[in-house]
Amino acid sequence: MLVQGIAKCLHCGDVAGEWVGRSGSPLLIRGLRPRPLDCDPAGVIRCRRCNGPMFLDEAGLVSSSYRLRRVQRMRRQLAQLERDARPGRAA
Ligand SMILES: [Zn+2]
Repeated sequence: MLVQGIAKCLHCGDVAGEWVGRSGSPLLIRGLRPRPLDCDPAGVIRCRRCNGPMFLDEAGLVSSSYRLRRVQRMRRQLAQLERDARPGRAA
């Protein structure tokens, strides 16, 4: 399950940016949007101002239009496969 929210410092409230990743996983740099170029993507996000730990504020589930279109396309393909597999249609 993907979640997104705002990566915010627990100590001073500084905002690192928007974060997207799996629910319950640590806040790694690879999940930051936009991702900083000069950091190890596998590293844990720390506050730029005070080096404090970050937490995910205003977290919510990701339900992007891309994912919805993908699910709808897969459902259409499944329905087509079921129609093609019906008895009497085999060549
Ligand atoms: Zn801070």
